[in-house]
Amino acid sequence: MIPRKKTQNQTKSYFSDPLELLKQLNLSAEQVGFSALAAKKFRFKVPVAFVSKIKVNDAQDPLLRQILPVQQETDAAQGYSDDPLSEAQSEAQPGLLQKYHGRALLLVTPSCVIHCRYCFRRHYPYEDKAHFWQQLKKNIAQISQNNAISEVILSGGDPLSLSDRRLSELFSLLQSIPHLKRIRIHTRFAVVEPKRITDRLLNLLSACSLQIIMVLHINHAQEIGVDTHQVFAQLAQRNILLFNQSVLLAGVNDNVATLIRLSEKLVENHVIPYYLHTLDRVTGSHHFEVSMKDAKTIYQKLREQLPGYMLPRLVCEIPGEKCKIPIEIGA
Ligand SMILES: *Cc1c(COP(=O)(O)O)cnc(C)c1O
Ligand code: SF4
Repeated sequence: MIPRKKTQNQTKSYFSDPLELLKQLNLSAEQVGFSALAAKKFRFKVPVAFVSKIKVNDAQDPLLRQILPVQQETDAAQGYSDDPLSEAQSEAQPGLLQKYHGRALLLVTPSCVIHCRYCFRRHYPYEDKAHFWQQLKKNIAQISQNNAISEVILSGGDPLSLSDRRLSELFSLLQSIPHLKRIRIHTRFAVVEPKRITDRLLNLLSACSLQIIMVLHINHAQEIGVDTHQVFAQLAQRNILLFNQSVLLAGVNDNVATLIRLSEKLVENHVIPYYLHTLDRVTGSHHFEVSMKDAKTIYQKLREQLPGYMLPRLVCEIPGEKCKIPIEIGA
């Protein structure tokens, strides 16, 4: 049989022009409060797979709101800063964060699969932190010197932005450290660009001798489609524990019904709801803020209505604390 000539795959996988996206969604820039200046400050980037889940003609779509650069981002807001978690101070050395007992967080790449407007690392001076890969080796050497660390958290950027070759190299370095038990991967790929989870990647994850935990970042049930459903099932089949963390975001998921639907959909997909974070007050994200009072009211209702295993922990991060801080809502 003559192999059929593969047509060069020209289909694009990302939108990098917000106006093109709006056109496709049949929305005008004015209608949605689009800001070119905001897009310049933090570049617009969204995978086609995520766009396919955004509703056409809906200026209020909760997925669109997560990725669209809007005018409010350029307003000054009190209490907001470029490094709200004072991460610069927790860096043992560039790209290695050791804030919490037993766990070390490695920033393995500056690149993300999607640019979320509320991202607390949006102002992270990635450019100054050149040579991620060289630095990574030094950071791994540091981890190997510290017996107290049993878990390495891969973060970034998005660790799955690394090529399979890099990931495999990284896993072998980590596997050779005797005191490590687990690798935790914080990623948005599995949900926003599920085709990244190839058989090859699945095999690579299965082959790792350390336990693999994956923490997904899903804020709304609408992000989970048939494509993501399949990928989650494959990950679960490979014995990868799946958790989800969300951020409580105004206009995206700040109501009880939406959060209940999210928890249900996660559990249907083998994913345990882990954290519901309050917003980190990073410059340009104040339009996503939910007041503490509203957050507590919403959470109280969630607690009354959801089975315990479907209830994420409502937490905030306070610079200098030894763990994420649970938000007390009383009896
Ligand atoms: C969130 C976080 C962790 C992990 O915390 P868990 O409560 O174990 O999920 C570890 N290191 C840093 C720097 C973090 O921000
Ligand atoms: S994927 Fe995570 S790190 Fe990347 S922009 Fe979104 S929130 Fe930020």
